[in-house]
Amino acid sequence: MIPYGRQDITQADIDAVVQVLQSDYLTQGPMVPRFERMVAEHVGAQHALAVNSATSALHIACLALGVGAGDWLWTTPVTFVASANCALYCGAKVDFVDIDPRTYNLCPKALAAKLEQAEKVGRLPKVVVPVHLCGQPCDMQAIHALATRYGFKVIEDASHAIGGKYRGEFIGNGRNSDITVFSFHPVKIITTAEGGMALTNSAELAERMALLRSHGVTRDPSLMTHQADGPWYYQQIDLGFNYRMTELQAALGISQMTRLDSYIARRHELAHRYEEKLDGLPLQTPWQHPDSYSGLHLYVIRLRLELLDKTHRQVFELLREKGIGVNLHYIPIHTQPYYQKLGFNAGDFPMAEQYYGEAISLPMFQTMSEQQQDLVIAALGEALDI
Ligand SMILES: *Cc1c(COP(=O)(O)O)cnc(C)c1O
Repeated sequence: MIPYGRQDITQADIDAVVQVLQSDYLTQGPMVPRFERMVAEHVGAQHALAVNSATSALHIACLALGVGAGDWLWTTPVTFVASANCALYCGAKVDFVDIDPRTYNLCPKALAAKLEQAEKVGRLPKVVVPVHLCGQPCDMQAIHALATRYGFKVIEDASHAIGGKYRGEFIGNGRNSDITVFSFHPVKIITTAEGGMALTNSAELAERMALLRSHGVTRDPSLMTHQADGPWYYQQIDLGFNYRMTELQAALGISQMTRLDSYIARRHELAHRYEEKLDGLPLQTPWQHPDSYSGLHLYVIRLRLELLDKTHRQVFELLREKGIGVNLHYIPIHTQPYYQKLGFNAGDFPMAEQYYGEAISLPMFQTMSEQQQDLVIAALGEALDI
C-alpha cells in the first residue's frame, strides 16, 4: 500500500535521538529550547513553545487568549476535530464558517457576513481559528482586517503548513495573527513522533503558554507572589498541565528541521507532476492562490461526479483495492455525532459538505518516488475508467 503520507527518518535523525538517550537529560534539558529557537528563527517569530502535540498547543493558545465559559470560537468545518475541540476544553462554544469552494479554506466573505450578523445579536467570537488546509495559507490579510474591526483574536492552525509562505513570508511569523500552531505528528511535514509548537510575537502570551505547558508552576522570582523560601522553591500561580515535549522529540525535530526546505521543494515537484499528469481527467486538482507557497502537506483532488458513472465511494474503494492508501481530509466536524449533539445539523455548511462528497487525498510525501507516483496516477485512471 502506498500511504497518503509518511515520515522520513534518516541515520542522522536516529543518531540525534540516541545521543540524547546517552545524555543527562531526557526531558527539560537543552534540546527543547534549541528546537524552539530554530523554528522561531526559521519562520520569523519572536517566541516558540514546544509541546507534546498541536492539540495541546491549541488548548494553551486558547487559554492564554482568555477563552472561557460564555466565549465563542469559530473555525472551518473542514479540519481535524482538534481545531474546534480546543474551545470546548476551555468551556467555550464552537461555531463554524463555511469554506471557499476554490481554496477549501475558511471563506473570508462568509466570515465577514457571519460577523455582521453576530454583532447585531451580541455573539461575536473571541477567537477565530483559520486552518491552512493542505498547507495552502488562508487569506490572512482579510481575516486580520476583520479581527481588527470586530476585536477577535486569531490562532492560525498551521498543522499542515510549516515551511510554507504567505505573500513571500514564512507562515508562523505572526504578522496577521496572535498565535500560530504547528503539528509534528508523523504524517505532517516534519515530525517529532508526537509534538507541536505554539509561536507568537507577544512576550506576555509566550509567558502564559510556558506556564500552562508545565502545571502553572514557575521558578522565576519575578513572577512569584513573595520572595522564594529557599533555593528549592517554586510556585504554582496558575492551573496548568503537563504538555511538555521530551528531549528525544526535540532532538528529532532539530534534525528534521535541517531538511524542511528540501521537503517542501520535493512536495512541490510532486504536485507539479500530479498537475501535469492528471490533466484531462474528470477531477479538480488543487487550485493554488498566487500569493501562496503551500506547505503541501496534502494533495486533495475533487471528483467531477457529473462526468463519472461511479460514485465517490466507489472510486475511493477501487483505489484502496489497487494498493493506493488514499484518504479523506476531512469529515466536516459539524456532522460528527458529538457535534450533532451540540445542535449542528447536516446541511448547515453546504460548501463543506459538497467538498466532503468529492474529495480524495492522494499520496503526497517527500520520499515518494516518481515510480510510486506513476502507480497512483495509473490506478486513478483505471478507477475513473479512463
Ligand atoms: C494533525 C492536526 C491537528 C492535531 O495535531 P496533533 O499534533 O496530532 O495534536 C490539529 N489540526 C490540524 C489541522 C491537523 O491536521
